[in-house]
Formats: sequence, C-alpha cells, structure tokens
Amino acid sequence: MSCLYIVATPIGNLDDITLRAIQVLKDADVVAAEDTRHSRSLLDHFGITSRLVSYRDHNEAASTQGLLTLMAEGQTVALVSDAGTPLISDPGYRLVQAALASGIQVVPIPGASAVIAALSVSGMATDRFSFEGFLPAKRVARQSYLQQLSQESQTLVFYEAPHRIREALLDIAEVLGEDRRVTLARELTKRFEQVWNGPVSEAIAHIGSKHIPERGEFVLLVA
Ligand code: SAM
Repeated sequence: MSCLYIVATPIGNLDDITLRAIQVLKDADVVAAEDTRHSRSLLDHFGITSRLVSYRDHNEAASTQGLLTLMAEGQTVALVSDAGTPLISDPGYRLVQAALASGIQVVPIPGASAVIAALSVSGMATDRFSFEGFLPAKRVARQSYLQQLSQESQTLVFYEAPHRIREALLDIAEVLGEDRRVTLARELTKRFEQVWNGPVSEAIAHIGSKHIPERGEFVLLVA
C-alpha cells in the first residue's frame, strides 16, 4: 500500500515552492491536479515529468476511486490544487476521507496558503481566527451569514472574488457597522501585492480607485 501526499504549491511567486514539494512531486507516480494544464506549467518550471491526472469537483467521486485503485497497487499519488494548499477552498476532501477510510497514509507537504499569508501581515489578532471561505454570492444569503457572525470576537477571514469584493464590503458595513476594521490582502506574493488596513467605510470609498484596484485575488479580513 502506497501513500497520498497533499502538496502545497505557490499562491503567486513560484519561489515559494518548498524543496520537499519539488522532491515529492518528482518522486510521485501520479500527480492529481485540479487543472492539469495549469499544473503542467508549474511542473515544467521545476523540471518535473510525473504523470498528471485530473482531479476536480465535478469528477471527484469517479477520480477518487481511480486514485484509490492506483494507491492500492502501490503507486504514490500527490494531490495539488491550482494554488496554495489543497482542500483549503479547493478540492480534495473526498479523496483524503476515502484514503483514510481505506487505511492509506495521508502525508501533508505544507507550504503557501493565502489565509495564513494574509493573517500574518494583517496586523489583526491571530491568536484566534475563523476561516470562513467564500461568502455566499447572493446578497440576502450573504447578509444573513454575516449576521450570524456578528457576535464573534475572533478575526474573520474570507476569500473573495474581485467582482464581489465591493458588495461584500457594503454588506459588512451594513451588518457589522461602518467602523469595523478590515484588511484587504490583494495579490499576495505577486507583482502588485497590496495590504490595505482601515475601517470598512474607508475601504468602500477606495475600492475601485487607484488606492485599491478591484482586480486580482483578495483575502478579506474583518476585525
Ligand atoms: N487553496 C488556496 C489556498 O490555500 O490559499 C485557495 C484557493 S481558493 C479557490 C482561491 C482564493 O484564494 C482566491 O479567490 C483568493 O480569495 C485567495 N487567494 C489565492 N491566492 C491569493 C493571492 N495570491 N493573494 C490573495 N488572495 C489569494
């Protein structure tokens, strides 16, 4: 019986890959990836020639079975996602569950994750935080979700798409109050990296301007 590696990859800057990640990906019989084309260019960059197979949300059940069979035959599988740590708002949960249930050893190869990178530079309390993933896309659901979080005292961390960041800020101001402090961690580790801190009312005033462009990838933190 072989093992399953859960391998973190960079969230932007390719130099953030770890030495161990490169070695594990080189040694793996199969690399299971969310988007094989995207991961091919990462593997090419590091001269890794391992076989790539697709592992996505919509084929998770079928490809979980396929990967379990490979591991039962003794092949080593490494799971990667498009960026950062697999399973963190990315596919892999079903595969890890199934591997554990089959007695397969699951080994983490830690590295970048946007939630941790953002927290580490936010200036917000990090002794307790709640990672909330993506907020609901629809306004009513988003507001009621925020309402449920309104009494939480730990730092809240969200992933958000650039075309929804303004709506998220407007709802935070409405539900949690205009003075609530937020951090917008944008394009971390990339060329246009930006970490903006201030009250949500000010973030709303700046979003979409040159001060906070509505472009790129965002982590949104709420004090
Ligand atoms: N598995 C990834 C991780 O460990 O961070 C997250 C994958 S999730 C599908 C993608 C979201 O992560 C983006 O919409 C954004 O909120 C956040 N994200 C990823 N890379 C980022 C970066 N370089 N800067 C800021 N946020 C990022």
